Amino acid sequence: MPFDINKIRKHFPILEEKINNNSLIYFDNAATSQKPLQVIERIIDYYKKENCNIHRGVHTLSQKATRAFEETRVKVKEFINAESSHEVVFTKGTTESINLVANSLGEKLLQEGDEVLVSAMEHHSNLVPWQMVCKKKKAHMKVIPFNDKGEIILEVFKPLLNSRTKILALSHISNALGTINPVKEMIAMAHEKDIPVLIDGAQAAAHIEIDVQALDCDFYCFSGHKMYAPMGSGVLFGKQEFLEMMEPYQGGGEMVDTVTFEETTYNELPFKFEAGTPNVESILGMGAAIDFVREYDLHEIRKHEEELLKYGTEALSRIEGLKIYGTAKEKSGIISFLLDGIHPYDAGTILDQLGIEVRTGHHCAQPVMDRYLIPGTVRVSFAIYNTMKEIDKLVGGLDTVKKMLG
Ligand code: PMP
Repeated sequence: MPFDINKIRKHFPILEEKINNNSLIYFDNAATSQKPLQVIERIIDYYKKENCNIHRGVHTLSQKATRAFEETRVKVKEFINAESSHEVVFTKGTTESINLVANSLGEKLLQEGDEVLVSAMEHHSNLVPWQMVCKKKKAHMKVIPFNDKGEIILEVFKPLLNSRTKILALSHISNALGTINPVKEMIAMAHEKDIPVLIDGAQAAAHIEIDVQALDCDFYCFSGHKMYAPMGSGVLFGKQEFLEMMEPYQGGGEMVDTVTFEETTYNELPFKFEAGTPNVESILGMGAAIDFVREYDLHEIRKHEEELLKYGTEALSRIEGLKIYGTAKEKSGIISFLLDGIHPYDAGTILDQLGIEVRTGHHCAQPVMDRYLIPGTVRVSFAIYNTMKEIDKLVGGLDTVKKMLG
């Protein structure tokens, strides 16, 4: 479908909302995106016509729901270009996907003195699970630094890979700085030393193309709710060889083959990692979100968000006393900034009065803030439905903030 911003906006009913009598301007897409009508309707339809637990029933409803659920798995497989849908595990989000790998793979690979390598710009979700497993296994977490612009330098990264490194866990795009990391090159460098790589793609899905085969990553994680899908839907892609060698993360129904008091054998992939009743309606909603995104050319979406980034960066840079954190050459549509002498919370509160929703704080990336010796930032993050006009209003809003607090 041609990229028509006015038509695209009409798919998102929430954009009609008013905040304080001002039209809603939603710039908090890195926290969660808004949902198009077809995603909302998919959930309603499921509960109206198909609601049933999946996989276990012989009756029509269960078979219908199961078919829709498994068709979504195939959609996800195609969306990320996985080799097989057995490599697509449904989770409730990026956090759960990473915890699954940290526990199951960490348990298998890590021994005392080993190292897990992460970057200094990770979200807490890609730090804390590794810290926890390292503590348990007496292993160490090593950190890849980034420069003032928010870039990882490959020459600095390379020597950190050594014979003790057992896992590299890295964000595709930083939620705090917007940096798009050179993950393909970093994966290749890790693989030269046989180190498996997990990519946290929470900020990438629906913004840039994801091709897990081209990247050659061993694991890729993302959340549906940041890509126009419902809360509680998420994906863990894992290469079959790894998923097969890993033990399940949680036990329960659905993940088993046979159970006796003495012994349990596990179900085949991917069900081995999907214990209990999943968020069926959210996963079906994620299928609808993928259909929505696929109606457009992903390159057009990327181009639109790049234009917003360029326009927004230039406009904000002209504001006196405003400093942008994260000025990497390769960036996605995220701008983190501070206004001289103004606390981000105060700026965010005034912008909210004007109907402009931005995020303030450390963005679950406290080490990033520590790196710059700041308590937090104001973060503006774009999605498919944002416009230049909204950025103009943000600039006006920041002027008001400065007049009131500067
Ligand atoms: N990683 C990154 C880079 C993120 O931006 C987020 C969400 N802010 C997460 C992980 C965690 O995602 P979720 O809360 O959906 O599990």
